[in-house]
Amino acid sequence: MIRKTRLFTPGPTPLLPAAQFAMAAADIHHRTPEFRALYTRVLAQLKEFVGTSNDVILLSSSGSGAMEASVSNLTSPGDRVLVLSAGKFGERWTGIAKSFGCEIDLVSEPYGQTFDMEKVKAALKPDTRVVYMQANETSTGTQHDVKAVAQLLKDTNSEALLVVDGITGLGTSTLDMDDWGIDVLIGGSQKAVMIPPGLSYLAISERAWARMESTKNPRYYFDLRKERKNAVKGESAYTPAVALIAALGAAFDWIAAQAATTDNPAGNLVEGRKKLVHNAEVISEMTRAAMVALGFKLFTESPGSAATAVYAPEGVDSGLVVKELKSRFAAIITNGQGEMKGQIFRIAHLGYFDYMDMIALIGAIEQVVVKSIPQLKASFGDGLIAAQKVYAERTA
Ligand SMILES: *Cc1c(COP(=O)(O)O)cnc(C)c1O
Repeated sequence: MIRKTRLFTPGPTPLLPAAQFAMAAADIHHRTPEFRALYTRVLAQLKEFVGTSNDVILLSSSGSGAMEASVSNLTSPGDRVLVLSAGKFGERWTGIAKSFGCEIDLVSEPYGQTFDMEKVKAALKPDTRVVYMQANETSTGTQHDVKAVAQLLKDTNSEALLVVDGITGLGTSTLDMDDWGIDVLIGGSQKAVMIPPGLSYLAISERAWARMESTKNPRYYFDLRKERKNAVKGESAYTPAVALIAALGAAFDWIAAQAATTDNPAGNLVEGRKKLVHNAEVISEMTRAAMVALGFKLFTESPGSAATAVYAPEGVDSGLVVKELKSRFAAIITNGQGEMKGQIFRIAHLGYFDYMDMIALIGAIEQVVVKSIPQLKASFGDGLIAAQKVYAERTA
């Protein structure tokens, strides 16, 4: 049998063809009117995609660069910060904050769990300067309650800024930055926006911009104030990843067009983003239902729509499912990260995945289960029937 390689990984995600064409055509110089027009347009689209009236800054780096920028720009050595961590990416906040000399208060939960708000409340101090968390902890597939943390900061009149790594939360869940009171919301290019790795972005509140005037940590390449000044002129401070910026514009056009009507064939980016989120919600629910119907146990108590994490049964290495899907069907899913390696496998839903992709993957997983994990006692169709029902109900 021939096999078509398909990514089902939570970053990088499958590439949108329209974005690939835009990249190939993007041989323009970055100090020209052509680039300034492109950059200005993409920055405006980013605001709509994030759903904020705040300025959005685009960086030529992977997502971790924007995470680092939100520490280096917003803190001084010795500042007290609160990190909420329940997985690999939560641990990254601790690592970055430590590198910049912050005093860290940590609310840490085991992989697969989310935070108890009473513990978060107890850990928040009058002198906490910044709270760092994920919207979706991709290493475990867990959605954290950003709104509840934002509400806690409001209720306690905290001066702490709320910084949210929304790298897989954006485009898969609702994150109302302005209404909830998020101060910095971070995204990355290789996730829901369907383009290659290499760009990150941060939406930044006025409160956070003001904080940057007094903080003392060193920053040069990732000086957000410098980027903001340049962005007003339609430029970035240094040579940007021009081809990726062209790709991002094309991806936003495509997302907007998902909400096209006969009166408005170009569509609308805000409505298109809602469709993208709905899509991730439906296909993740299909996947969860299918995995449970096949006899698997889900890993997290608070599943998000970016990726589904599934336990391998007792005595089975989760790498078996990853390997079999790759060798038999050229479908690439991911193993657990960090301490969960060998115990769980993860299937992505963010970005350019549709009903057809998910049904095909569930069918392939049935082949793997029936042949290689007989102890689950599953039959062909068990997972597909569950997924079909979810699809029919959610799109009725
Ligand atoms: C992918 C990802 C990141 C960014 O990682 P990079 O490899 O630096 O792009 C950060 N946080 C989360 C939750 C992610 O999923």
